[in-house]
Amino acid sequence: MQATTQLIHSIPVDPLTGAISVPIYQTSTFVQEAPGVNKGYDYARSGNPTRATVESLVAQLEGGHTGAAFASGLAAIDAVVKLLQSGDEIVAVDDIYGGAFRLFEQVYKKFGITVHYVDTSDIDAVAAVLTAKTKLIWIETPTNPTLKISNVRALAALAKAHGCLLCVDNTFASPALQKPLALGADLVVHSGTKYLGGHSDLIAGLVVTATAELGQQIKFLQNASGAILGPFDSWLLIRGIETLHLRIRQHCASAQAIAEFLQQHPAVDKVYYPGLATHPGHAVAAAQSKGFGGIVSFSLKEDTQEAATAFVTSTGLFKLAESLGGIKSLVSHPAQMTHKTIPAAKRKAAGVSDSLIRLSAGLEDTEDLIEDLRQAFSTLEKNKHQQNIEWKHISNLPSGSLALA
Ligand SMILES: *Cc1c(COP(=O)(O)O)cnc(C)c1O
Repeated sequence: MQATTQLIHSIPVDPLTGAISVPIYQTSTFVQEAPGVNKGYDYARSGNPTRATVESLVAQLEGGHTGAAFASGLAAIDAVVKLLQSGDEIVAVDDIYGGAFRLFEQVYKKFGITVHYVDTSDIDAVAAVLTAKTKLIWIETPTNPTLKISNVRALAALAKAHGCLLCVDNTFASPALQKPLALGADLVVHSGTKYLGGHSDLIAGLVVTATAELGQQIKFLQNASGAILGPFDSWLLIRGIETLHLRIRQHCASAQAIAEFLQQHPAVDKVYYPGLATHPGHAVAAAQSKGFGGIVSFSLKEDTQEAATAFVTSTGLFKLAESLGGIKSLVSHPAQMTHKTIPAAKRKAAGVSDSLIRLSAGLEDTEDLIEDLRQAFSTLEKNKHQQNIEWKHISNLPSGSLALA
């Protein structure tokens, strides 16, 4: 049976009523027949049947042992960090999600957990920073927003040899494209807010573990710290996951067509998309994933924040917003949005130039999306032309008149 068929039918029909959709168990507690005698649930922080459904669904999708659903992607990341002790070290991908960076540096640093950031697409660079204290390697592949690819299998072998864990933030690829546990990773985390939810209508996070033992520890932390996903959001997430494979196929097809369109456009400098043969991570991505995802980034030949601003405010279908992975296409300008707090020199060194623009291809018709970009480029061109005329006009004025203007 194919994965999609299996997935759709792994969600049980409600045995009590025959409801074909999973019921939303909006309850805080469960009545017990006698003290400690219950039907598998006692208190809804510890367990809720709607949440349990999404947890087992995601564990199945990722090919893992245990799934745990959290109130946000960051709460899921937080639970994984809590597996460590003070004095432990993490080696993390250098262009890590900004929220994870903030959590590591501004929360866990003061509890004695140190993080070293390296380019994890370079295995030797990772091996060079491992110490006896390294307990966790943390990667994203592809990364945000330059879509760098790390070799999951090679990093898993390195982690195993070193006796530490490998955790993959699989948000950008989604399990429809990439299953890190099958490649040897120990843990997968997700911002369910993105592709798993898929409709830009909830905040959710997930952890999936390779083993029962790690699963027990994560479930313990989920209950002990309490950042659980509520029953209604669990239900919305189930509803999103049911169409994941179908949606991802379209996201990928549009992103590939957009990347190819951008690559030949005269106003574009660089295009970042692992599906392009020119992308440095193309071969590794092709070997470890079934597709290249729905995110495309590019920079302009006119590498200024003004040009990027003009572009991102000229698109119509691509809405200017943070986040990704939803039905509606989004455009963002990292230098002024997600990466604003990173010092300019550090940001540029990571490949996030002033004009870098990130697109999340939604589920609109591919041709309409390309037409929207074409239209934004021509607005950009017109603006430039207009500025040239204005400038010529000013510089033709007799000297001294500029001060009067
Ligand atoms: C959005 C995101 C997160 C954080 O998830 P939230 O649901 O916003 O807390 C973590 N990792 C990646 C790669 C993300 O894109």
